[in-house]
Amino acid sequence: MTKKNCILRVAIATPLRRLFDYLPPDSTDTSKFKPGVRVSVPFGRRKDVVGMIVSINDKSDFPQHKLKKINYAIDKQALLENKHLKFLVWASNYYHYPIGEVIFSALPAWLRKNNPIGDFRESVWSLTEKGITTDPNLIKKAPKQAQILNFIQLNKTAVNESELNSLYSRSKQSLLALEKKELIIKEFKELTDKEIKINKSSFKLNKEQKDATNTILKSIDNASTFLLDGLTGSGKTEVYMSIMEPIIKANKQCLVLLPEIGLTPQQIQRFKDRFEVDMAIQHSGLSDSERTKYWHDAKTGKAKIILGTRSAIWTPLANPGLYIIDEEHDLSYKQQDTFRYSARDMLVIRASRDKVPAILGSATPSLETLHNTQKELYKHLILPVRAGKAKPPKYQLLDVRGKKMYGPISQLLVDEISKHLQNKNQILLFLNRRGYAAHLFCHHCGWKVECERCELPYTYHKSSNRLHCHHCDSQKRNVQQCPECEEPLLLLGHGTERIEEVLAELFPKATISRIDRDTTRKKNAMNDYLEKIHSGEIDILIGTQMLAKGHHFPNVTLTGIVDADRGLFSTDFRASERLAQLFMQVSGRTGRGTKEGTVVVQTHNPEHPLFKQLIDHGYNFFSKSLLQERQHSSLPPYTYMAFLRAEAHNANDAKRFINDATMKLNSLTKKSLQLFGPIPALIEKRSGRYRYQLIIQSSNRKSLHSHLESWLDELDHVKSGKKVRWSLDIDPQDMA
Ligand code: ADP
Ligand code: ZN
Ligand code: ZN
Repeated sequence: MTKKNCILRVAIATPLRRLFDYLPPDSTDTSKFKPGVRVSVPFGRRKDVVGMIVSINDKSDFPQHKLKKINYAIDKQALLENKHLKFLVWASNYYHYPIGEVIFSALPAWLRKNNPIGDFRESVWSLTEKGITTDPNLIKKAPKQAQILNFIQLNKTAVNESELNSLYSRSKQSLLALEKKELIIKEFKELTDKEIKINKSSFKLNKEQKDATNTILKSIDNASTFLLDGLTGSGKTEVYMSIMEPIIKANKQCLVLLPEIGLTPQQIQRFKDRFEVDMAIQHSGLSDSERTKYWHDAKTGKAKIILGTRSAIWTPLANPGLYIIDEEHDLSYKQQDTFRYSARDMLVIRASRDKVPAILGSATPSLETLHNTQKELYKHLILPVRAGKAKPPKYQLLDVRGKKMYGPISQLLVDEISKHLQNKNQILLFLNRRGYAAHLFCHHCGWKVECERCELPYTYHKSSNRLHCHHCDSQKRNVQQCPECEEPLLLLGHGTERIEEVLAELFPKATISRIDRDTTRKKNAMNDYLEKIHSGEIDILIGTQMLAKGHHFPNVTLTGIVDADRGLFSTDFRASERLAQLFMQVSGRTGRGTKEGTVVVQTHNPEHPLFKQLIDHGYNFFSKSLLQERQHSSLPPYTYMAFLRAEAHNANDAKRFINDATMKLNSLTKKSLQLFGPIPALIEKRSGRYRYQLIIQSSNRKSLHSHLESWLDELDHVKSGKKVRWSLDIDPQDMA
């Protein structure tokens, strides 16, 4: 290609949904400008903006003399392979989200800026001629330098810098000083891959586990999607690991996604115990350099296992062999702001593009996934029994209407707790609400303490004696009495702090721990709790949904669902699905060891069909009836949805924009899509902004998507749009 018609199409992290055309700088060899290479470009008024070349064209929609030149290439080699770039472009098109934002949010933060990828070779230090003959004792003023020199001399060969760092604190300065004295010299050594070593599982797979493993292994060279539908504790993780074994032996990579709360050191350790290979672990607690290193290890194929939460789906892989997503129904896989992608859906797409299998694991599969198994797009594999000796838990539905209560806990549940305490077992009480009381209110005049920005009640937190708004996270000082009547306020609606207080009075000898967002803010706090649970130090655990999922507590024999009614009457059409999933997940925490487990469910609605169906027939049966309901009311997964969300300080601004947008869409589509709106979001006001939505629905996904892009282009120019913040949510997962 001659330079004249070499147009470089560059992605830049801006809200504009397009690529930008540039020319290569003068008199340069254009061969270094390849797709996947980051470049520095002038952009608007800024002179040095980081972009990435996505493609090379010989034409531009703009006259050639108007195109600007690239400043220079940042990378010598493509940072992203073409195949991966194309996947990102696909995602950007599907979600109608700006390509530049998609590409740059998929990179580690370090590489979003004009930083070099860095050198991941190992630095090693060896002696110079002078260093060999110098007596360390002569370096009297700097004892650490003397120690290090002595250590390298004793070692005879070059010493890894990382080893010196771990032996001597702050060794870097001493090393540089020794280098300056020309006693030692630094070199770089290529990192060698860890030798693959795979340990045997400590037990034999049961028949169902073996069948599932074999079925998946048979299709290892195909792009098939499997739902591994197994009760909590049925040994899904063991199945994942037995499938990973031959794939890793073949030097291929496995990407394993875990929900946010599932990526615990205990879970990571299970994989490490089994596979002694290079691993890349991606979670929010990493430093920039660790994150970049892991990203690089995945991209080069060095890391054989990539373990991470939602955003790990964007990690480039050199040699993909298997994609796994555990607890596929978990809401944390859908990003709820900016780039609103579903990591689960992207995993299935990515696996099929790479022609390798995808495994979706869950005890409570989402209706979308179940629907796909009914359509035979996914193969449905079932693990019907708990692994090892564990038995399914027994349920007790407690009708607490009119019963004696200690705050949120009924006498019947108290009796049950004492029984399990006497047997020296652990108890888990679940309530999905932090704080002490959900409402404060005046019995005389009805005055309520509300967050002005959200027009919703504040939650009272006794431990900090403050009021928290759980919607916008604002806080203020506690209010003791009604400003009008000067009467003390009533506290209604119990939270986890209240349970903790009640139980401490009832069971003064028991060790009680409350585990929620408030008590686990500090780094490692959650792990300290998990360790105490495993060592048996804690008798009663009180927790929110943080504790509900994924954890394996072999000594918990009683789970109490303190308020099973929350969410029963929500207007969100997904509420029953979520409630059933949470119910089963919470129940799944009990009886996972050798002892039998009991689940006590406190309710004021014992006749509600949800409880009866779940308890008598299980999640599978219940989800089938939910699917039928969805089909009758033409809701997802039988139809496809997108939300246009708008928020503004003035409710009318938001409504006006939704109305204008609706008109535009109707004229574009000739009314072929179903539109509902403007309707208020479930949380109508948050942080001072009113929130309205347009629901766009169609029974045909293609027809839904075909008009969205041109509609969005028009919306960018709608006048009422200037007064609101708006966004498009494809396949929305919540109405909030
Ligand atoms: P899941 O992921 O389905 O919740 P896990 O894989 O965590 O289940 O398994 C639950 C427990 O059962 C773990 O302690 C695991 O080590 C054990 N386990 C799994 N498979 C077997 C088996 N075949 N025999 C005995 N114990 C098993
Ligand atoms: Zn009052
Ligand atoms: Zn608020």
